[in-house]
Amino acid sequence: MESAVKSVEEYRANLAAVNANIAAAAERAGRDLSEIRLLPVSKTIPEEGLRNAIAAGMHRLGENKVQEAKRKWQNLADLEVEWAVIGHLQRNKAKDVAEFASEFQALDSDRLAETLDRRLQSLGRSLDVYVQVNTSGEESKFGLTPDAAVDFIKTLPQYSALRVRGLMTLAIFSSDTERVRECFRVLRTVRDRVRDIDADLLGPAELSMGMSGDYEVAIEEGANCVRVGTAIFGKRNVSDATWWPGVS
Ligand SMILES: *Cc1c(COP(=O)(O)O)cnc(C)c1O
Repeated sequence: MESAVKSVEEYRANLAAVNANIAAAAERAGRDLSEIRLLPVSKTIPEEGLRNAIAAGMHRLGENKVQEAKRKWQNLADLEVEWAVIGHLQRNKAKDVAEFASEFQALDSDRLAETLDRRLQSLGRSLDVYVQVNTSGEESKFGLTPDAAVDFIKTLPQYSALRVRGLMTLAIFSSDTERVRECFRVLRTVRDRVRDIDADLLGPAELSMGMSGDYEVAIEEGANCVRVGTAIFGKRNVSDATWWPGVS
């Protein structure tokens, strides 16, 4: 499955397969399917391929890099599609995210929160955000430590344009499922700690966790949003180190 442009039918079939796996994982975990959303991740897929993906029913797409997301937003403005920015953001690009994104899943610093909020206010917009937590303890991963995340979340109510929806993480890349599962549990623990402090702080308190290799485990551990790229769009022709330093 190379990430060449796929037909609408191929996208429909891949989507159906992932949705079937999600339903099976939810069933195993005794969870209600309505609590779980699939966010297709379209990074590296060119606009012409995304036209087919959108026609196959994907109306919100995740992108790791803001420049790529912005380009696609502009080039696909004629279609019904919204954009989720899910990768690390430098403060000098907060303006772009404020302009076009429907959600941002990698909030990880006071300064970024402050800048985003200011940019959003001046545009009269608001934005759904998730706080990114480093649950694996790997230095290569972005996100706040669990303790720092709890403290950070307490400061977010001052930013009225940021609608806090929950927490996001990337698990360790490992074939050892128990180590992956542990990362998801750490994220859930952070959510529970914040809820104990103040149930309003995290809004709906969603957990965004799980990707192509581990979304079923993530659902068993309580995921509300799974971010799936490869299993829908095919294998990327670009090294994952482009998004995650330290990964080959
Ligand atoms: C690329 C990406 C994903 C999806 O990864 P796949 O393994 O292709 O499913 C999920 N989350 C983030 C933050 C990503 O950058």
